[in-house]
Amino acid sequence: MAKIWVFAEMVGDQVSQISLEILTGARELGGELEAVVLDPQARSATAVLGEYGATTIYLGSDSQYRDHVAQPHATAVAALISAYHPDLLLFGATYEGRDICGRLSAQLGLTVVANVTALNHSDDGFTAASSIFGATQNVTTLVQGPTPCILVRPKSFTAQSSGGGAPRVVEVALPPGSPLGARRIESVVAPVSGPKLEDARVVVSGGRGLQEPANFHLVEEVAELLHGAVGASRAVVDAGWVAYSRQVGQTGKTVKPDVYLACGISGAMQHTVGMKGAAHIVAINKDRDAPIFKLSDLGIVGDALKVLPALSAELRARGVT
Ligand SMILES: Cc1cc2nc3c(=O)[nH]c(=O)nc-3n(C[C@H](O)[C@H](O)[C@H](O)COP(=O)(O)OP(=O)(O)OC[C@H]3O[C@@H](n4cnc5c(N)ncnc54)[C@H](O)[C@@H]3O)c2cc1C
Repeated sequence: MAKIWVFAEMVGDQVSQISLEILTGARELGGELEAVVLDPQARSATAVLGEYGATTIYLGSDSQYRDHVAQPHATAVAALISAYHPDLLLFGATYEGRDICGRLSAQLGLTVVANVTALNHSDDGFTAASSIFGATQNVTTLVQGPTPCILVRPKSFTAQSSGGGAPRVVEVALPPGSPLGARRIESVVAPVSGPKLEDARVVVSGGRGLQEPANFHLVEEVAELLHGAVGASRAVVDAGWVAYSRQVGQTGKTVKPDVYLACGISGAMQHTVGMKGAAHIVAINKDRDAPIFKLSDLGIVGDALKVLPALSAELRARGVT
C-alpha cells in the first residue's frame, strides 16, 4: 500500500487551511495517509490531523522551527524520508512549502512538481496536473523516482473532515548539529478588515481599467457593501495601487467565492487561474471583446468608473449597508 505524506503547516496553534485541503485530496488517492508537522505548537494539531484522515503524525516541536526559515524543517524531513521512504510527499504551494521543497530537492535529488491542482493514482503511479508557461498550458505529469514532492495550489480541494480518530504520534527530534540557516527576526501580521480574501464569499477585484489609484475606492465601496473582500490584478499591485496580499492569480492568491466581480480586468490567464473556480463571475469592462467575458456568467460592457458608483447607489437604495 502506498504511503502518502502531507507536510502540515501551522498558523498559530491551528493547522493551516491548505494543509486540511491537501489531506482531503490525498485521501482520494488511497493508501496510507500520514502527516509531518514541525512547529513548537505541533501538539495542538494532532487531533485535527487525525480527523482529516492522517493515521500517523511525525511530530517535532523544537523552537528552531519557529525561529528559523525552512532549513531545520528540510533537514528533519530529509532524515524522515531516509528512515521511512514515503511514496509521495505533498506540500502546500506556500512560501514555506516552496522553501522546504527546494531544499529537499537539492539535498536528496528528489523530483518536485509545482503548481499542482489535481492528483491521481493509477497502476503506473501518481499523476499530478499543473499549469505551465504562465498558465497557458495544462500538463499531467507521471511522477516517478523515490519520494516525489508535489506542491499543491490552494483551493485545489475542498477541506472536509473524514471523522478519523486519534492518530499514532511519532516524536521527531531535530538531528543534532543541524544547519539552521536564516533566522526569523520578526513576524508581522498585516492588519486586515473584512473577510479574508481566500475565504470570502464575495470578492470584488479591480484592475488597470480603473485608470488611477484614486479610483480604487470604488471597488472597496462595493466590496464593503456586499460584505466581501477586495482583490486586484497584478497590474495594479505592481503599480503600487494596492498591497500584494490582494493579488489574485497565478502568482497571487487563489479564490473560490460564490461571486467574483472583476472590474476593469482584462482576464489574462495568469489572473483567471486564480479565480475561475468562483461559482458566479461578473465582469465590468468597456471592451466587449475582453477575454474576461468568455468566463463570465454576467458581463457589463461599460465604464467601471460609472458602473461601480451606480452599483453602490443601487445597493444603498435597496437598504444594503
Ligand atoms: C509569470 C506571470 C505571472 C502573472 N501572475 C499574475 C497574477 O497572479 N495575477 C494577475 O492578475 N496577473 C498576473 N500576471 C499579469 C497578467 O498577465 C496581466 O498582465 C494582468 O493580469 C493584467 O491586469 P489588468 O487586467 O488589470 O490590466 P490590463 O491587461 O491592462 O487590462 C485592463 C482592462 O481594463 C479595461 N478597461 C480600461 N478602462 C476601463 C474602464 N474605464 N472601465 C472598464 N474597463 C476598462 C480594458 O479594456 C482592459 O481589458 C502575470 C504575468 C506573468 C508573466
